Amino acid sequence: MRLVLLGPPGAGKGTLAALLKEGLGLVHISTGDMLREEMKKETATGREVKKFIEKGELVPDEFVIRLIEKKLTSDKRVGHGYMLDGFPRTRKQAEDLDRILGQIRQPLDYALYMESTLPVIIQRLGGRRVCRNCGTLYHIRNKPPKKEKVCDLCGAEVYQRADDNEATIRTRMDVYLKNTRSVIDYYNAQGKLKKLDGDKDSEEVQAVLMQIFHEDHKFNKH
Ligand code: AMP
Repeated sequence: MRLVLLGPPGAGKGTLAALLKEGLGLVHISTGDMLREEMKKETATGREVKKFIEKGELVPDEFVIRLIEKKLTSDKRVGHGYMLDGFPRTRKQAEDLDRILGQIRQPLDYALYMESTLPVIIQRLGGRRVCRNCGTLYHIRNKPPKKEKVCDLCGAEVYQRADDNEATIRTRMDVYLKNTRSVIDYYNAQGKLKKLDGDKDSEEVQAVLMQIFHEDHKFNKH
């Protein structure tokens, strides 16, 4: 199954992705993670994108499209299905994704849209913490690591992303709404959009999603 996860930062895409990875074995492809990796390795791309990411603005389309094209056409693991998290964020990215997938004859199955409200997002992202090594997500109130700032799973440092502060979260939400409306309309017109309530907790969202997959005859032949 090939999915796109849409929704503002903090709507729960990362948590849903972790559940889908475990439940359906889908590979999780996050352009935010890929870009942070480029920054960590201090590649030419990493140096170019840093200023945009730190301000909460979108990185120019060509950087993310290049990363995604390489991933989808050369990484064998994606052949069994994947979900794209944080991509596409603009109409141009959505069109280029269809072009790339058309060339390898692997069309998308669904675009899942996690809708969420600003107060919920600020509460979630303000308290969000991430493992620097394995990417496990924590929340200072709802899901703190057992030992402060130490990942339960791998023992590496658990940190707060520089762009998870309230001012940058508001900018990211504005940027998201401005650009991504057209992406939502794009998938709606293709009949691939499925809306999910991102303010609900992740188990409820997952149950609704499994029902959607179950009712789709394409995934229900056996
Ligand atoms: P995320 O981890 O998805 O919240 O992404 C973190 C930051 O990376 C965003 O605020 C953007 O600056 C950048 N970014 C990630 N994905 C994209 C994308 N598809 N297009 C443009 N910028 C992106």
